[in-house]
Amino acid sequence: MLSNDFDIIEAENGMAAVAILHNHAHEICLILLDIVMPVMDGFEMLAVMNKNGWIKNIPVIMISAETVPTYVERAYDLGVWDYISRPFDERIVQRRVSSTIMVAAKQQRLSQIVVDQVYEKEKDNRLMIEILSNLVEFRNGESGLHVLHIYTFTELLLKRLFEKTDRYAAFQKDVSLICNASALHDIGKIAVPSEILNKPGRLTEEEFAVMKTHSEEGARILSCIPFRGKEPLIQYGYQICRWHHERYDGRGYPDGLKGEEIPIAAQVVALADVYDALTSKRVYKDAFSHEKAVQMILNGECGTFNPLLLECLTDIEATLKKELNVVSLGHHSENEVLDSVERMMESGKVDISEKSLRLLEHERMKYQFFAALSQEIQFEYVATVPEVMILSEWGAKYLGLPETILNPRESVFGSQMFCKEDFEHLLEQLKNTTPEKPVIEKKYLLNINGVKRWSKVICRSLWVDKETPEYEGAIGKIVDIQDEVEKVQDLQMRADHDSLTGLLNHKAAKRQISLLLSEQDGKNCALIFFDIDNFKQINDQYGHWFGDEVLKYVADTVKRSIRSTDLAVRMGGDEFVVFLEYRDKVELPVKRIFENVCGTYKECEVRISMGIACSAKGGEDYETLFNRADEAMYAVKRGGRNGYRFWSGTPEELLK
Ligand code: GH3
Ligand code: MG
Repeated sequence: MLSNDFDIIEAENGMAAVAILHNHAHEICLILLDIVMPVMDGFEMLAVMNKNGWIKNIPVIMISAETVPTYVERAYDLGVWDYISRPFDERIVQRRVSSTIMVAAKQQRLSQIVVDQVYEKEKDNRLMIEILSNLVEFRNGESGLHVLHIYTFTELLLKRLFEKTDRYAAFQKDVSLICNASALHDIGKIAVPSEILNKPGRLTEEEFAVMKTHSEEGARILSCIPFRGKEPLIQYGYQICRWHHERYDGRGYPDGLKGEEIPIAAQVVALADVYDALTSKRVYKDAFSHEKAVQMILNGECGTFNPLLLECLTDIEATLKKELNVVSLGHHSENEVLDSVERMMESGKVDISEKSLRLLEHERMKYQFFAALSQEIQFEYVATVPEVMILSEWGAKYLGLPETILNPRESVFGSQMFCKEDFEHLLEQLKNTTPEKPVIEKKYLLNINGVKRWSKVICRSLWVDKETPEYEGAIGKIVDIQDEVEKVQDLQMRADHDSLTGLLNHKAAKRQISLLLSEQDGKNCALIFFDIDNFKQINDQYGHWFGDEVLKYVADTVKRSIRSTDLAVRMGGDEFVVFLEYRDKVELPVKRIFENVCGTYKECEVRISMGIACSAKGGEDYETLFNRADEAMYAVKRGGRNGYRFWSGTPEELLK
């Protein structure tokens, strides 16, 4: 019932399942587990899964006919995610399986991020401690390897110790802390005068007494650290500094502690320190071989140690030799990183780098997939030097530009696609954003593949979160809004024009003529107003549709009779206005318009009455001119229609 959605691996009992897990643990996303099985039952199998750390990564759902509460409880205690009792509903199993897998995947993703972060932090911590302790080493004229050797020795020995006995189980969780603290064992030497520290040859008794103060001095330094004294790292550091020269038989210094009075961390580091001193070359002695050193320690030539630790030393001898055989600090550090990753893999935490990379790769794929689907020009802009613009794959292809553009201001992108000033303006606007208000939206006329199109640039600036946030660049996209702009223009056009004739309407005409008059600047202009004679009759005789055609004919004829800079207006009904500029003789265009419009349209005689008001060299406003032309036109109507006259302000015209 699940095989449609999943690859199924079956195992007939717990043992067979464990065998599969050994090879395929990382490929399995969920286990459905029975309780009663031959050879190895479900609970035993869960125990094995716990022991191997598999239970942390593979969710288990128990399916069983056993509904005894203690069974169910035990299953949950052993780490199962869900418990389904038989008989079951197929759909419920499907649902629970898919939701468990989803939740487990999410959880793993989150914990992976945490592991990565902890790992990073841990690495930095160690680096700090290494730097600090190397200060002492270098002052001591030794190489920085000493500290690293002690670290490795301590780690190997501690791990072996915890495998061998439960006596020190309480410290098991602190291995990495103790190893880190081991690096601090000699920091007290900072207080030892360098003549003594670097004396070539054996120290006198007094000098040795001074040298011996380094253990107490180191402990004092750590105990003086303000506020953080309770940190486990400092506490282990204190123990290690103060007591790494104590011996199991009580013959060490400074306190003469005996046996288990010496904290285990200090015991281990003491052994590590002796081993490293023996195998290192000093001004007063050559280096002993690994074998010789181990022999000397086991023979008790360097003081007495915990017999259990000596056993551990014997156990790890071969590994120790191999691990400490490193040539350089750099080489060692690299090994260390690899080791840590390996250790995490062994402990079931999976390969971190690979998994993180995979996560990143997924994010990148997701981004690219959606970017390609959306067919948008997306970009990333890096503002810091060198300036870079990175285009989405689709965007780059669409624009015929490379995906990565260095120095975008000088490139085709910044200077030809945008006009240079616009691009600078955009970058300036981005720089002026704030972390609180990082999004801006600007419109530019862009030259895209040789075609000028209005485009909208939507950006989100990127700020690095610091005390004073730093502007780093932006991400954004370019959206073509030419169609939108045209639509708006079209709407505007419609609002200003008469739908029947396409001429300007009254409202728009008033606005435009007023504007022209205000900018008239000494030019002559005329407002011509005419009304079709007996238009009602045309409507009555031929019908309203035909009347419309006549109106269109009149409009077209007027348009043909004027220049493109002149305005033709349908004021409403059968009334029209023409507004034009003229140099000296206005009669010519007036006559032309009049004679053109008066004619025959489909056997229908079209006649008009026309009044003209002139504004020679400016001064009159729209209302005045309109009223005058209107008066003149009515004078024509009253005089028998079908003619034109110029407003002259005579009483005859005023007689309405
Ligand atoms: P006059 O010579 O005095 O102007 O007489 P007229 O019959 O033309 O009268 P008037 O100008 O006062 O009337 C205009 C008529 O035009 C009134 C109306 O029925 C008609 N009209 C107005 N708008 C339209 C239109 O969009 N289409 C048509 N077909 N007729 C219209
Ligand atoms: Mg009329």
